[in-house]
Amino acid sequence: MFVDVHTHDRNNDNQQVVKIVNFDFTDKIKDGDSNVLFSAGIHPWNVCQSVDFEIFDELFENKRFVAVGESGLDRAHPATFEKQREVFLKMVSLSEQIRKPLIIHAVRAYSDIISIKKEKRAAMPWIIHGFQGSPESAQQLVNHGMWLSFGEMLYRNESQAVKVLDAVPFGKMFLETDVSGRDIIGVYEKTAALTNRDVDFWEKMIFENYKGIFGYGKLEGQNANIGW
Ligand SMILES: [Zn+2]
Repeated sequence: MFVDVHTHDRNNDNQQVVKIVNFDFTDKIKDGDSNVLFSAGIHPWNVCQSVDFEIFDELFENKRFVAVGESGLDRAHPATFEKQREVFLKMVSLSEQIRKPLIIHAVRAYSDIISIKKEKRAAMPWIIHGFQGSPESAQQLVNHGMWLSFGEMLYRNESQAVKVLDAVPFGKMFLETDVSGRDIIGVYEKTAALTNRDVDFWEKMIFENYKGIFGYGKLEGQNANIGW
């Protein structure tokens, strides 16, 4: 089983792939989305929209909602950092309260994320999605108990990607497609090529990581028929 830990594309016709789709609040969950799970949260780009936080209580009653996010901090975005921080802290509390992992969007804010994790003593797993930083930042995030998810970085700067992958224990890794439109199997193949391991190795490794965090030995949501 392959895992796409963060994507915005809910179409899934490959039964060998489980996806965690970032929930679009304008969309509805349809019947028959098998192997499609969801994360829901407030993205740092959207912190200025007014949000009714009660919506999360309702969403997370649905077993297919397995993570909070994507949420985080983005210093390259015009939304004020203070507002982003305020909303992110709410998402951190939500994750702790409902005991679901947090999927994080962070741009030029890895050290802020580390400080918040320490300050809040957050115990839930945090996954930094779309990691783009240096091997040193990767190591620091891992040392503070976080998981890193890789996608586009693997294609942009291969020599840097090799160094980063080298700095991260395999048990702390995830793979993703985010908004790239790539096929997740291709991302596995790319990772295999960059690490001199085969796709089979990565398939098993990432699935173990997934089970460890999301607690699904068997997919509970699989073939669930949730119509709303
Ligand atoms: Zn995303």
